[in-house]
Amino acid sequence: MRKLLFAHALLPEGWRRDVLVTLDGTGRIAGVAPDSDGGERHDAIAIPGLPNLHSHAFQRGMAGLAEQAGPAEDSFWTWREVMYRFLAHLTPDDVEAIATLAYAEMLEGGFTRVGEFHYLHHDPEGRPYANPAEMAERIAAAARATGIQLTLLPCFYAHGEAGGAPPLPGQRRFLNERDGFARLLEGSRRAIAGLEGATFGAAPHSLRAATFEEIHDITAMLRAGEPLHIHAAEQVKEVEACRAILGQPPIAALLDSVGLDARWCLIHSTHGTPRELADLARAGAVVGLCPVTESNLGDGIFAALPYRDAADDSSIGRFGVGTDSNILIGAADELRTMEYAQRLAHRTRNALAPRGASTARTLWEGALAGGTQALAAGPAGITPGAWADLLLLDPAHPALAARDGDRWLDALVFASRTSPIRDVLVRGRRVVEAGRHPLRAAAEARVAAVLARILAA
Ligand SMILES: [Zn+2]
Repeated sequence: MRKLLFAHALLPEGWRRDVLVTLDGTGRIAGVAPDSDGGERHDAIAIPGLPNLHSHAFQRGMAGLAEQAGPAEDSFWTWREVMYRFLAHLTPDDVEAIATLAYAEMLEGGFTRVGEFHYLHHDPEGRPYANPAEMAERIAAAARATGIQLTLLPCFYAHGEAGGAPPLPGQRRFLNERDGFARLLEGSRRAIAGLEGATFGAAPHSLRAATFEEIHDITAMLRAGEPLHIHAAEQVKEVEACRAILGQPPIAALLDSVGLDARWCLIHSTHGTPRELADLARAGAVVGLCPVTESNLGDGIFAALPYRDAADDSSIGRFGVGTDSNILIGAADELRTMEYAQRLAHRTRNALAPRGASTARTLWEGALAGGTQALAAGPAGITPGAWADLLLLDPAHPALAARDGDRWLDALVFASRTSPIRDVLVRGRRVVEAGRHPLRAAAEARVAAVLARILAA
């Protein structure tokens, strides 16, 4: 058994010194002993890596390409047009290249697992590839190459609007009927077989793209405990369409007609009403917040304070964070943006921490617990049975120097221009060294070539 000794570590019970972490042969933690010596010594501050519970990896390739004002008012819906035009050109090789870069950046940025909400399935004409799970294979290949832990969530997409309206031409690469989706799921399971640490679930895209009946059928295709993710209440127009067509806003409709529980993760939930958020908190589902993307798309601000008040303890309520469009990738960026949105909306400070607590630690531990639940990757944290997915912070980094304990995390989240994340371990194996992923340079070059080709098309 390997033994790693960290100068400092954040354990579930708090900060401890000289923490000896024993790993089993698979990279899970077998034992944790503070105030120890021996083992392979790291002069580092070890904290748990965060799960990134919501990514569309291919969108990393179009980051920054939708920031010019159009002829009319821009919105999520005009951004979506740019995204549809971009993906019309992507080949499986392109997707693997972009996902490799995105996953290398996630590891450098503090995420050790990604939940890939995977909806780009078919060729540009909308025909399935010879292997219907070709694109899932490419996502798995990118995870394998970079070393990030993968939760693959193949996405079901069949319609263009709530109530089963026909899809748009720009959506043809996403579409499946039930039997096709069942084949895709089986192929996707094979794609991650042999990928150590991988977990699996499914993602009915939204109530625009899937009917209640289809969601029931998809749920029945999964095994016990496998998670379900869905976009909900991201946009006011989406909520209004849902009210008009289904008679209820999306979260209430899902609660009443699908039945939500701890297997579910509702991505965004931006425009959930206090009543819906209270019911969601009681159901034990996770809210998947994507604060950087939600800011970029102008979605709105999640009602974190009513959600917290509805939770049955002093926590914020079950939540995790995701990088979604991957416009910018970083765990600290997501948590900082989440907190700053609340500060701006409520003209307050330390909006999300209980009295006397560190904001960064509150958010880090909340996103760790909720993200781990949503990706069925438990247990969470530096504790026996959990994967040894660790960030090793540099105690000599200028942003961390002369600080200790929670102030290290506050500096990491709020006050570092350069990252204090020195090394990253996944299943105990080092995948980022001195802040750099070894595949980054090669992945950047491949993605630059993909972009040059697409922008010239
Ligand atoms: Zn999304």
